[in-house]
Amino acid sequence: MPGEDRFEQERQRMVDLQIAARGVKDSRVLAAMRSVRRHLFVPLSFRDSAYNDSPLPIGSGQTISQPYIVAVMTELLRLQPGDRVLEIGCGSGYQAAILGTLAREVISIERLPEIARMARENLSREGIGNVTVVVGDGTLGYPERAPYDAILVTAAAPRVPPPLLEQLAEGGRLVAPVGSRDLQELVRCTKRDNTIDREHFGGVVFVPLLGQQGWPE
Ligand code: SAH
Repeated sequence: MPGEDRFEQERQRMVDLQIAARGVKDSRVLAAMRSVRRHLFVPLSFRDSAYNDSPLPIGSGQTISQPYIVAVMTELLRLQPGDRVLEIGCGSGYQAAILGTLAREVISIERLPEIARMARENLSREGIGNVTVVVGDGTLGYPERAPYDAILVTAAAPRVPPPLLEQLAEGGRLVAPVGSRDLQELVRCTKRDNTIDREHFGGVVFVPLLGQQGWPE
């Protein structure tokens, strides 16, 4: 495909300058970010901006997250190759593709059917076969496949939804942006001996998590 070489170069620069230079060290995360073709997950009209240091619109008022934030959240999850992962807020499917590259199986929930359809198309174009996109309210989790070794919330939550903590395996990690509708803090919850250890990382801005255990629709 014409232009693939240019995208490849832009992607390697993205990882060098936006991600590795800012302190992301996990070599598996860096390798996944080097391999997944982010330009396949943005609308055609934004392809030339796919490797910019910013989120981009994907339609229906939603966004694909900034590459650096995708890398930071993925690193915080400490994924192992055998892990089963749940993502809330599939959006473009890009974050799910990164998770699928690093783990055994990913379930990604999206509340908007038209966005879920687009994510499935993007994932199949990229040849990612271990991600299942489910339409529904992800604030309730997905008990059918629980427990999960890792859970990632990629929309702004007023609090960590309790059903997600219940569906976390022993030793499991959950990462979520928690705070107000305008500004959140990254939180990592780790389940050990049935207690939850909470750590806080930097400030972030995500679109709202809408649903029963999120913001009212
Ligand atoms: N992970 C995405 C970016 C997330 S954008 C990517 O890689 O592109 C946040 C997404 O969360 C939006 O698509 C929005 O529709 C979805 N969302 C919001 N509330 C949700 C809920 N309760 N359950 C599932 N998805 C939700």
